[in-house]
Amino acid sequence: MSDIIQLLPDAIANQIAAGEVVQRPASALKELLENAVDAGATQIHVLVKDSGKTLIQVIDNGKGMSLTDARMSFERHATSKIKKSQDLFTLRTFGFRGEALASIAAVAQVEMKTRQDEHELGTLIQVEGSEVKKQEPISAATGTSISVKNLFFNVPARRNFLKSNPVEMKHLVEEFQRVALSYPEIGFSFMQNDMDLFNLVPGKLSQRITGIFGKSYQGQLVPCEEDTPHLIVKGYVGKPENARKTRGEQFFFVNNRFIKSNYLHHAVTHAYEGLMGGDMQPFYVLFLEIDPSHIDINVHPTKTEIKFDDERTIYAVVRSAVKQALGAHNVVPALDFSL
Ligand code: ADP
Ligand code: MG
Repeated sequence: MSDIIQLLPDAIANQIAAGEVVQRPASALKELLENAVDAGATQIHVLVKDSGKTLIQVIDNGKGMSLTDARMSFERHATSKIKKSQDLFTLRTFGFRGEALASIAAVAQVEMKTRQDEHELGTLIQVEGSEVKKQEPISAATGTSISVKNLFFNVPARRNFLKSNPVEMKHLVEEFQRVALSYPEIGFSFMQNDMDLFNLVPGKLSQRITGIFGKSYQGQLVPCEEDTPHLIVKGYVGKPENARKTRGEQFFFVNNRFIKSNYLHHAVTHAYEGLMGGDMQPFYVLFLEIDPSHIDINVHPTKTEIKFDDERTIYAVVRSAVKQALGAHNVVPALDFSL
């Protein structure tokens, strides 16, 4: 019998990896936004067409890439963010797997323009289904612009699985809001089919919240802060009368990464006990800071779950932080002395 095992060609390996990293336009947007933040951008512009199905473009004014790095960035496991395994435990960046751009470029037509401040000319690269189609010097602003066109153009089964434009748009907006909320010091804009959806100036968290959710939130935000040796909680919770019947405006960030946690959501709603109906969902944007050695950030790029060493303590601190915030701002049921 002859030997039959072969290494997969890169294009196929990338396409398989893409299945994990890129499920829909919103997952590509998330990766591009995180790269822009990692690159130290202070202004990030997002443009999408047809809910990201034909175009997702992210333009940043971050540090840009050299010609060689621009080319390398599309290789699988190519990253500037870690060099040795210990780096995994001290990560300060979103990215480190070096998979996102390779995966996106395996299933889309990607055009990157990038320039570093110290270079007069930048680089234009076009990659289509992992194949480099064009590479040439261009003049460009400092920073990076990446356009992802016709996502899944070469994977019809996946393209057909994309949901309706409103559903895909909802996912895009969600990813955008998560990143924009966790970096109020960065300016963001978001355009869909040439219409302005968001225009967020750099500022404080409270300004960012009203920038995203509307001016009506201005008087509704109660600051929340608690400092314990294990855990710092900071952010805003909404007044009880601002609570809604539907979920969707609840945000937890752990060490600035968005996470979902029903357990912690319960800790917050528990703190509202007696202040609103049991089926109501309060607004909140809460940032938890925990020593990374006490959490297991599920390091898969698309996962938003997290495991804490000591869940109960965290629950108790979050609940007490919210309770105190509501109490300190006199958001307590009015006592009826008329009897
Ligand atoms: P990761 O973010 O995990 O390192 P990516 O595939 O997302 O992997 O990106 C690969 C590399 O390309 C990054 O490590 C970074 O050096 C570079 N890069 C990607 N996007 C940008 C950007 N917007 N600005 C500057 N460099 C970038
Ligand atoms: Mg990345």
